[in-house]
Amino acid sequence: MSTYAWIGLGNMGGPMTANLVAAGHTVRGYDLDAEACKAAATGGVQIAGSIAEAMDQADAVFTMLPKGEHVRSVYEADDGIWANATNHMLLADSSTVDIETSRAIHAGSQERGLNFIDAPVSGGISGAAAGTLAFMLGGAPELMERATEFIAPMSGKTIVAGGPSMGIAAKICNNMMLFIDLMASAEGSQLAEALGLDPEVFWQIASVSSGRSWAQQTWYPVPGIIDTAAANNNFEATFRTDLARKDIGLALDAGQSTGVQLPAASLAREHFDELISQGLGDKDCSLIVKNLLPDGVVRGWNPKETESAPSAAS
Ligand code: NAD
Repeated sequence: MSTYAWIGLGNMGGPMTANLVAAGHTVRGYDLDAEACKAAATGGVQIAGSIAEAMDQADAVFTMLPKGEHVRSVYEADDGIWANATNHMLLADSSTVDIETSRAIHAGSQERGLNFIDAPVSGGISGAAAGTLAFMLGGAPELMERATEFIAPMSGKTIVAGGPSMGIAAKICNNMMLFIDLMASAEGSQLAEALGLDPEVFWQIASVSSGRSWAQQTWYPVPGIIDTAAANNNFEATFRTDLARKDIGLALDAGQSTGVQLPAASLAREHFDELISQGLGDKDCSLIVKNLLPDGVVRGWNPKETESAPSAAS
């Protein structure tokens, strides 16, 4: 059995650590948010008062934080991860961050003789709870076997993407493809309906034809077609628009630094920015369907219901 230090016990870190505890490991967690700590403690995580306390005698140190700036700050702080790490520990960042941050943490760790991998995930909150997340790993080959063992209780599939920052590169490209596919489902669903197709019949046709995609199968933005769609639930978030905006922005930044043109990703960013400018950043990203109709009135979306409901933001 191993001892894990875990920094960031939010929507993803909470259920991921619960699975480590359920597998018999010791987890010492640290988070700035008292509610997140409380929830993680009910899953069996021992709450630490500092990063140093969480890392004391740890075998592995995971970060699951919102953005690159948070990851940098916990690594670089005077009493942060670098200050407390030893070369016996495996350091892993599972947050979705920008390439530059990931490279900087790899370089800083290497300079200090420490073992760092990037280990982002796909599968969302439900995959975190079920222990079926897909992990994509980037780093030195000799770290991968040990990393895969640490990850096993949280993962349905772990794939070594390549050297340093290749895990995060895969994650950014994957999510960019997802949001472009989401635009296709949004546009296809509305045009089909406007042309008089029965929505259920059209979805069945696309499912066995070339319009099929993960977004079409899981997030189809029309109510009453598939259970997992936010359209059934007034577009309460399964994947928040502001997080989708963050991820598409990471892809566009990478496109700019590499010179690759990403016009479809730019369009996706416009969709998300439009929703955010309307104060809908905490709603599901599939609400982009609303941008397609001249009056913004779309089946499944009732803004009044949202105004009277308790805030879904977390
Ligand atoms: P979240 O906001 O629910 O959790 C992040 C936690 O980090 C919060 O509890 C916050 O208090 C804590 N935190 C922030 N700064 C901190 C600091 N300096 N020290 C300690 N704790 C700190 O976010 P989440 O949904 O758990 O996502 C985490 C990461 O995983 C993000 O990068 C996200 O893009 C990525 N991700 C999320 C999903 C998803 O479906 N939610 C899926 C795949 C990947």
